[in-house]
Amino acid sequence: MGQFAVIGLGRFGSASSLELMRLGHSVIGVDINAKIVNQIADQLTFAAIADATDEHALKDLNITTCDAVLVAIGESLEASILCVLLLKNMHIKEIWVKATSKPHHTILSRIGVSRIIHPEEEMGVRVAQSLNYPMVNQYMSIGQNLYLVEIKISEKCQGTSIEKLLIGVKDSIDPLLVRRKNDIFKLIELSFVLEAGDSLVLAGSLNALKKIAPRLL
Ligand code: ATP
Repeated sequence: MGQFAVIGLGRFGSASSLELMRLGHSVIGVDINAKIVNQIADQLTFAAIADATDEHALKDLNITTCDAVLVAIGESLEASILCVLLLKNMHIKEIWVKATSKPHHTILSRIGVSRIIHPEEEMGVRVAQSLNYPMVNQYMSIGQNLYLVEIKISEKCQGTSIEKLLIGVKDSIDPLLVRRKNDIFKLIELSFVLEAGDSLVLAGSLNALKKIAPRLL
């Protein structure tokens, strides 16, 4: 179980903190607005009304032991940057920050944070990619141009072996598992025969995954 702090509980911050809770982590939620904190308090491990640009208030929250702190203050560039600087002064290593504009991004990258998030853009790209490859349920970048993808097997692929699906890209894609109704098949062989409705999880380079996309439709 991880321990996280989310500063700014607007739509983005509250959705992130509730999802972290659902995933079994402990979450400290912080917002300057008492009404917002009261609305979500009983769904988080701990919730505090505090101004994250106030050094003493931030120190009182005991967030230095957190695995990561997510700064989700959107509109106020000044508050977001000041909060990040204070967190850095507190030697918090893993700081993820929501950026709302180009100047915001530029300043954050100069200061140096672990990750800068652009929710609208990132969601836009995801939606476009899902529209492009509708059979891809989920995908995740794991760095170095490698992706994890979950693919829904169509009627057209009923009875196809993984070997046939991966012809020409076997060296660039690893089949990881297949979920069939309530069963999960791990360490699957290339000879594994797919059924319509299976969920197949693959790891591979984007180029290789793009090559097999037309075979999945
Ligand atoms: P979203 O799109 O996530 O709803 P947003 O990008 O519109 O948010 P804001 O609403 O400005 O951004 O900020 C998100 C949250 O951060 C708000 O709930 C706001 O009360 C809180 N917030 C703003 N300034 C501070 C601060 N100094 N300390 C703590 N929380 C703050």
